[in-house]
Amino acid sequence: MAAPGPHDRPEPLVTGGTGRLPSDDHVHSRFSFDAFDGDLEGTCRRAVELGLPAVSFTEHVDLEPWSAPPGGWDWPEGVRGSVDGHGRFLAAPLEVQAYVAEVERCRHLFADLTIRLGIELDAGHRHRDEVADLLRRQGFDRIVGSIHALPDLTASGEFLEVDPAYHQREAVDVVLTYLAEARDMIASDVPFDVLGHLDYPLRHWPVDRPVPWAELEEPVRDTLSRLAGSGRALEVNTSLPLDLRVVRWWREEGGRTVSFGSDAHSPAELARSFREVAPAVEALGFAPAADPTQLWRRT
Ligand SMILES: [Zn+2]
Ligand SMILES: [Zn+2]
Repeated sequence: MAAPGPHDRPEPLVTGGTGRLPSDDHVHSRFSFDAFDGDLEGTCRRAVELGLPAVSFTEHVDLEPWSAPPGGWDWPEGVRGSVDGHGRFLAAPLEVQAYVAEVERCRHLFADLTIRLGIELDAGHRHRDEVADLLRRQGFDRIVGSIHALPDLTASGEFLEVDPAYHQREAVDVVLTYLAEARDMIASDVPFDVLGHLDYPLRHWPVDRPVPWAELEEPVRDTLSRLAGSGRALEVNTSLPLDLRVVRWWREEGGRTVSFGSDAHSPAELARSFREVAPAVEALGFAPAADPTQLWRRT
């Protein structure tokens, strides 16, 4: 029998528990370069319809250019950014003032919903001066730290998005390199609260191959242990969603808090799979805090 693939769950999904939906703490709107269907007001309205206690907008802050993939750039229409003379793509910068104004407007429209002003900070440890400058100008309620690109093996000092990185490395090495990058970010003093989508490389894992979890367990546990030591939270990103054995390992390695994030790029994707994933996470030993807008804690 083949080993479990990325979509197989080793832990049974359990219904019951408190039955409460968590906040969605990883959401994009049109202020992110790749969320052209994003709609901040529409997302807030959807959050109220779903009964979410809070929503955290985590708009992209991507500070480094990415090398062109082997076939050239093929972004969907509507993606905002620029390609330089070396073929590298740089995402359009976050329009901070317009973003803050739109969040403020929606806080007035949806007075009973907690709306957090956040960012998803890409590889902040490699851009500490720019991050410090941004945070001097604007404070944020939530910072998700994440990695989207790995060192480009054909161009020293450059970075290649994870999907095309599979052309340069063995599949398992993409994941191992990603974990090493995450550990570097965790070890840095770059301010972020939550480690986003630790399973990001698995979004692009070859569909015809099982994920070698036995080989990945030790480096994943090591990464989780260091994250727990840093006092930060682990995100249960529901885009794939995150394999539940990673949540179990997180608890076993001392993790104290989890964040739930749909990584929605449109209102319709808000809180995707939360009704299935949240009870399963609860069964693994995490539960809502007394204040339902806050991160879930270990029980
Ligand atoms: Zn991301
Ligand atoms: Zn995201």
